[in-house]
Order: sequence, then C-alpha cells, then structure tokens
Amino acid sequence: NKRRKDVNVDSPYNLGEEKRVLEGSDNIVHFIQNKLRVWCRQSRGVWASGTIEATSGEESFVSLGNENVVKVSTSYLFPANPEILDGVDDLMLLSYLNEPSVLHNLKYRYSCDMIYSKAGAMLIAVNPFKDVEIYGRDFVTAYKQKATDSPHVFAVADTAYNEMMNDGVSQSLIISGEYGAGKTETAKFAMKYLAAVGGGNVEIEGQLLQASCILEAFGNAKTSRNDNASRFGELVEIHFTEVGEISGVKIQTFLLEKSRVVELDPAERSYHIFYQLCAGAPQTLRERLYLKKADEYNYLSQSNCLVINDVDDAQEFHKLMEALDNVRISKEEKDQVLKMLAAVLWLGNISFQVIDNENHVEASIDEALISAARLLGCASNDLNQALCAHTIDADKDSDKGSIVQKFTLQQASDARDALAKWIYACLFDWLLEKINKLIDVANDFSSSHLQKNSFEQLCINYANERLQQHFNRHLLKLEQQEYELDGIDGVKVDFVDNQECLDLFEKKPNGLFSLLDEESKSPDANDSTLVTKLKQHLSGNPFFKGDKGRAFAVRHFAGEVLYDTNGFLKKNLDTLNTELIELLSSCEGQFPQTFAIKMLNQSLNPDAPKQGVGIQLKGQLFKLMHQLENTKPHFICCIKPNRKQLPSIYDEDLVLQQLRCCGVFEVVRISRSGYPAQITHQKFAERYGSLLLETNESQDPLSISVAVLKQFNVLPEMYQIGYTKLYLRTGQDLCDTVDMILF
Ligand code: ATP
Ligand code: MG
Repeated sequence: NKRRKDVNVDSPYNLGEEKRVLEGSDNIVHFIQNKLRVWCRQSRGVWASGTIEATSGEESFVSLGNENVVKVSTSYLFPANPEILDGVDDLMLLSYLNEPSVLHNLKYRYSCDMIYSKAGAMLIAVNPFKDVEIYGRDFVTAYKQKATDSPHVFAVADTAYNEMMNDGVSQSLIISGEYGAGKTETAKFAMKYLAAVGGGNVEIEGQLLQASCILEAFGNAKTSRNDNASRFGELVEIHFTEVGEISGVKIQTFLLEKSRVVELDPAERSYHIFYQLCAGAPQTLRERLYLKKADEYNYLSQSNCLVINDVDDAQEFHKLMEALDNVRISKEEKDQVLKMLAAVLWLGNISFQVIDNENHVEASIDEALISAARLLGCASNDLNQALCAHTIDADKDSDKGSIVQKFTLQQASDARDALAKWIYACLFDWLLEKINKLIDVANDFSSSHLQKNSFEQLCINYANERLQQHFNRHLLKLEQQEYELDGIDGVKVDFVDNQECLDLFEKKPNGLFSLLDEESKSPDANDSTLVTKLKQHLSGNPFFKGDKGRAFAVRHFAGEVLYDTNGFLKKNLDTLNTELIELLSSCEGQFPQTFAIKMLNQSLNPDAPKQGVGIQLKGQLFKLMHQLENTKPHFICCIKPNRKQLPSIYDEDLVLQQLRCCGVFEVVRISRSGYPAQITHQKFAERYGSLLLETNESQDPLSISVAVLKQFNVLPEMYQIGYTKLYLRTGQDLCDTVDMILF
C-alpha cells in the first residue's frame, strides 16, 4: 500500500457514541463527585486534562491544576482514563476510547520510545525518526522464544509465521500509512524477522535484503515529505517450505511514478540511482558513459535539489554495485543498465531549434544528442528524426500514402520525455524480473488543506480505497467470528462499506475509468471535454462532485479530494509513438531492442485492446485483492508524528488525522458496537461471587456469573452469556460497567 495525499481532516466517521458519554447531568455529577479526569480542548486545539469543578447546562468549569480553571462547552468534554491506564499497550484496554484518550495514550508511549501499540487486531507504529534499538538479534530471539509480548512488528511477523505453520494458511502483512510514516522500514524489519525465523538458506536471506536495496535505489526518491520516499507500490511474496524455511521470493510492483524521471517539483529529487551514478562512478566508467556531474543534467538540476542531508550518494553507489553483483547481474548487463541510465540523463539535455515559419523544430546537434544516440546505439540523425516528426497513414481511400507530420517544440519535447520515461520504466521492470528469476519460487508449498491533485494521485487514492475495503471487511469478519465461536449469535456488527465509492471508479460503462478510456480514444477530446463528460455522467453520484473549470472532487473513504484533469488523457494513455519504438528496435545494444519488443508486444497484442492506465490498474488491483483474499491479513498502520522528520515531536492534529485515515477508530467502533465489555466467567466469578446471598451449589464460574446477574436483576438485554466469557453492553470501562450494573 502507498500514500494517501491531501485528504480532508474530516473523517466520515465520528465517534458519536463516545462523544455523548458526558452528556446528561447524571453522568457529569458522577464525574464531579468522584473528581474523575476529563479531557477538554483548549483554544489552540491542544487537549488538556482536568477535573470538572462545576457545570451549568451548556458550560462547565474545568480545573487544569495550578489554580487554572477554564470555561468550556460541556459538549466538548470527554471522559479521561484513570492514570493507572496511562501507556497501556493495547488501546482496547482503555476504559474510554475517545480521540483525546487515544492520542494521549500513544503520546505517552511515544515519549518513552515505545513506538508500537495495538488497537485490537491492528498494530500501530509511530515513526521515531531515530534509532530506537529494538531490532537487534536479541529482540529477534526474544520474540521467537515468546519471551515478550509487547507490541512489535516482530510480534506480528511471528504470529503470521506461526499461523502459517500451524494452520497451513497463507498470511499477509498489510502496511499502510502516509508519506514517510515508516511503511518501507517496517516492511524491511518484518522481512528481516521472517528471514531470521525462516533462515536456513543464508543465500536467499541475503538476496532478499539486497533486492530491497536495489528497488530502493531505482524506485525511491527524495520528496518534500520524505528523504527516501517510495514511488511505487509493492507486494513481496515470501514462500516457505513445509518445514518453514524460505524457499523463494516474488516481488510485484505497482504504478512506478514515471513522470519523476523528467519532471520534478522544487526541492525534490529524481530517483536516487541517477545521483548515485553521477557521484560514485569511477573514472573509466565516467568516460564510457560521457558522464558529467548531476548539476549538468537538466532532468536533475531543474528542482535545485541535488543532495540529501546525511546521505553520501557515492558510497550508496558502491553498495548498489555490490548488491547488483549479489543478485547475479552480469558485468555486461550491469554495463547496459548504466548506459541506459546515462542515455536518459543525456536525453534530458537535448534541445530543439525552430527550422521553419510553421514553428517546426529539429534537435540541436550537440553533445547531448550525440551522447544519447551513442549510448542508445543509434545514429544521432535517426534519433533526431524520431524525436521531431511523426508519420501518419493517410486516408485509406486516397492514394497519398503516408504523410510526415513535423513536430512543434512542445511535441518534440514531449516525445523526448516520453522516450526517457519509457526507457527508465523498462529498466525498472527488467531489474525486477531479474531479481524474481533469481530468488525464484522453487517450491510451491505456497502458504504463503485542499490542493488539486493529478492523475497519479487519483490512481494512488483509488488503490487505497480498494485496500480500505479489504481492511473493513476483514476486521468485521474477525469480530463476528469471535462472537460465533463463543456461542453468541445475532450480533450484527455494523460497518460502512466503501463499495459505492469503488463503483464510481470501476462501473462499466459509466465509471470514471471507463469514461476516461472512452474519451482518451476520441480524436477531438481534451481535458475540458473530459471534465464535461465526467460531470455529465457522474453528477448524480453522491461520491462525485463537479468543481470549477477542469476540476472535480471525489469523496474518498478518508475524506474529499479535489482533482485537476490537466494532463489526465495523456497520462491515462501513456503511449510511445511508433517512430520511437522503431528507433529503439534499430538500436545496437541489447537493452533498447528488448525494450522495443516489449512495447511492440504491448501495443500490437490483439488480445489486449488498448487500455488506459486506470483500467489496467483496476485489473492489477483485482488480482492483488484476489491474492490477498486467500490469506489471513495482519494490519500494521504506520503513523508519522510530525512533518519535519525529526525525533521527539508529536503533533496531535497530524496524528489524529492519520488515526482516522488508517481506520483506527473504525476498528474501535466495530469492536465496541457489539458487546464492548467482555470478561471471562472465571474473573467475573472471582470478583463478584462473594456477593451472592445464597451459596451456589455448583462451583463452576459460568453458573456463578449467571447467579450474580440474576440476583442483581441485570436486564437481559444488557448482556449475553458465552461459553467462556460474559459480554456486556454499553461503552464504558469494564469494571465500571459491571459496578454500575450491579450497584
Ligand atoms: P513513503 O510513502 O514516502 O515511501 P514510508 O512510509 O515508506 O514513506 P519510510 O521511508 O519507511 O516511510 O520512513 C521514512 C523515514 O522514517 C525513514 O527513512 C527513517 O528515517 C524513519 N523511520 C521509519 N521507521 C523507522 C523505525 N522503525 N525506526 C527508525 N526510523 C524509522
Ligand atoms: Mg516507502
């Protein structure tokens, strides 16, 4: 899973139930009399805890200590948990699960470097932005031997591993979170743990970690939010033998952000590999690639950001070269890879000049054109022609044959950038294929504030929407199953499904992606006709909102997002013109030819009618969901505590927004919508058995529970009796609940 961009803070879910806890005068009196702590929101949006001094209808006076009494609206008061619960490792153990209580608990733990917490079945990981020293061999051993049960990504990986071994069912770890929240690091720690417990094959273990190093160099970049942002989604399958040893690995990637190769936002970088190459290549290689420093390449220098703090690109280059050796990429192949990278950089330096009074252009015959052509293995003249003109087949009925259409500056620059992007994307796919072949699956025991967003974000948010549905449906199912196992039925756990929002994207023929494809095929279409068409067909849909000009909004699960259709059609089609494909296939090197064949197959395959990127993504995600459906999911939600990428800063609003997006409150809501307070008959009998007036004949805990409930006339709709546990209604603290019901 990947990032979610710029979503509204307002979640479609609020904790209505939790909010009302303090309403009603009885309850408030109870809080005043017992001097129980409450949370109140102060002017700057900061939560403070205190005790209620007095209340008069809508207003309450809360003492925050130090004689500081504030007046707040009563409806903004939330019950706080007793101090004894500060820092509990599972949020479900909190008596009150309102937002300030959850925020406080995570903050408390974070300040003690306890970055992991649980919310029922889900693991929450708050990014420490520093080394917390909890991933060493000693920790691996401790979790392996079950010597500790504090929440940890190792614990999740361990549970998954054991369930796979015991039940023979494939497992999945689904890691979600915002940009820079820690997904990639978490995944690496999970793989490290699995490699350690599934060890035996030392070679595969090493290769697994080397593979992520390679993918990071080619698929990660510095963005304004994360110095090592992944610009692709990935599914890593780790296959195990029957005795639990790793037998193979398969990596699938989704949606590499190709546009980054040619276009950068200010203060962002292109993919790490380019800077590593420019900084780290030894002299002989520099000569072979006609290599210059990074600041001399337009594709890299355009954003005025060439280095990352505390990162030595040259050193990273040497590490990468070693990693490539370790995944058995030959010297010749490595040479080809580097040549293609240099060719991409030189392509970006090709400039054009106007040659006639119709603004047609030709490439300037300079170092850039010559170097790019040499690296690709073609004549510079051929490259020039392929970038500057396009042959169109004339009318079938006429005998004119074909017409050569010359390009304007914009068209030629577009062709140049398209070629650079395609070469890079093919290179990325090639590396992935290579890695997958190496650590092949040998055995098949497979248990295994509002800003306008572009097409890329639309795709990413759609992918997140799909994962969200998987998440909702599974957690719901888990809860329901637990009730059923304990003999409780008739509990319908209520949850909001986002199928309708998915329909907005997926429906045929009037879903967003279908309409986009239809419009992409129409010769007169442009981004304005597209938005008109979308508004025409989708305006009645509650998840769609037309906006000014070329914009529209989608009501995603995590909030409303505004999109700008600028460039949608071009990005959806993502094609390379035939001239460029032909040029590549005529090149001397092995790589350009392989790439050309791949593209030709894609564009000529009659079984695959030309599909837009959106529809293709839909297909990929359906496949992914199908793969995940057959696994038992474990959810890990990564939280970024601040935007500065610095340790020890906990921004409450930022955390709250992510907790809402990750569905933490949703989990809580689902878990509490049935019988939130649960206690084993054993415990209940120990605690309240002595209150029984008549001594009970049978001493079994279940009968004692029943007798206690009867004696105190607890209403039957307030509880259910399971085989092992007593289930109580109301959203209060367990002991409180029992005590309130009983007295
Ligand atoms: P993106 O969506 O942009 O790819 P991400 O969720 O993959 O982001 P990471 O790259 O995993 O985020 O994490 C960002 C940075 O946070 C890391 O480079 C690292 O400095 C720090 N970080 C994340 N998790 C941890 C951790 N468990 N311990 C120490 N530092 C961490
Ligand atoms: Mg990442």
